[in-house]
Amino acid sequence: MLTAVLVPESLDAVQAALADEARPLAGGTYLMPRLNDRATPPTRLVSLRRAGLDRVAVGDDAVRIGATTTLARIEDDKRLAVLHPCVRSIAARPVRSLATVAGNLFVRQPYGDLAVALLALDADVEIRGPGGSRSEPLERMLPTGVAPDELVTGVRFAPPGVLSYHKAGRRRFNSASIVTIAAVLSTADGVVRDARIAFGGLAPRPMRCEAAERALVGHALDEASVRAAAHAAEPVIEPFDDAYASAWYRRRVFPVHLRRALLGH
Ligand SMILES: Cc1cc2nc3c(=O)[nH]c(=O)nc-3n(C[C@H](O)[C@H](O)[C@H](O)COP(=O)(O)OP(=O)(O)OC[C@H]3O[C@@H](n4cnc5c(N)ncnc54)[C@H](O)[C@@H]3O)c2cc1C
Repeated sequence: MLTAVLVPESLDAVQAALADEARPLAGGTYLMPRLNDRATPPTRLVSLRRAGLDRVAVGDDAVRIGATTTLARIEDDKRLAVLHPCVRSIAARPVRSLATVAGNLFVRQPYGDLAVALLALDADVEIRGPGGSRSEPLERMLPTGVAPDELVTGVRFAPPGVLSYHKAGRRRFNSASIVTIAAVLSTADGVVRDARIAFGGLAPRPMRCEAAERALVGHALDEASVRAAAHAAEPVIEPFDDAYASAWYRRRVFPVHLRRALLGH
C-alpha cells in the first residue's frame, strides 16, 4: 500500500523527503505498476516532476539533460537527434510522454535502452546527496545505483560524431529488448581508432563491452573484425531468460545484431 506521494517544488524539499525515507518517483511508468502489483513494498514517494530538473543544454562540448526530461521531449528536440533512434525504440509515445531519462537508469532489464546508449556515449551522471553534488561515470554508477538519500539530477556527455544504435525486439516498435546495442566508433584511414560499445539484454544490467572494443581497435571495420568482436564478447556476456526471449536465443542472435549495429546490414 502506498502511504503518501509528496510533490515538492524545490530540490531541497525533495532532498529532505529522501532523507525521511521517501523514494523518488519520476514518470512512474516503471515504478507505479510494480507498486500496484505489490512487487515493490509499501513506500512513501517523492515526485521529482516539479523540482526543476528538466532543463536541457546543448553546447559544442557538452550535452546536459536534466533528470526528469521526458523521452518524448528528447524525441521532439532536434538538437538531441543523436538519441532519437534510441528513444523512439522505447515503448510508445504515451509512455514516452511520462518516462524520464533518470528513471531509465534504474529500471531492470530488459528495459534500460537509453542507459545502453548513454553508456556508449560515456555519459556522466550528476548525483545530489546530503553532502552536495558530484559527478560519476554512468558506467560506475550502474552496478551500485545511488544511496537512498541521493538522487540523479542530470546526465552529461560530449556530442559524438555518430552513435550507432540497434535494438531487436519481438516487434519492430513498442517491444522490450531482446538485444540492444549502442556504439560510438572513430575511424581513420578505414581503421577503427577508438570504440565504445554497450549492450542491453545480455547481462543483468546494461553493460559496456571492452572485450568487443579491443577486438575492433586497430582493424578495418568489416565482417571479419565484427565477427571477432562478437567472439571476444562471448565469454563476458550473461544473457538471461524472460518472457521475450531465452538466454540461449539472446546469445545465439547477438552476433547478427552486433553486425547490424556496426555495419548496418
Ligand atoms: C508499456 C511499457 C513499455 C516499456 N518499454 C520500454 C522499453 O522498450 N525500453 C525501456 O528502456 N524501458 C521501457 N519501459 C520502462 C520505462 O517506461 C522506462 O524505462 C522509463 O524511462 C522509466 O522512467 P520513469 O521516469 O517512468 O521511472 P519511474 O518509474 O518513475 O522510476 C523508475 C525507478 O527509478 C528511480 N528514479 C527515478 N528517477 C530517479 C532519480 N532522478 N534519481 C534516483 N532514482 C530515480 C525510481 O525510484 C524507480 O526506482 C516500458 C514501460 C512500459 C509501461
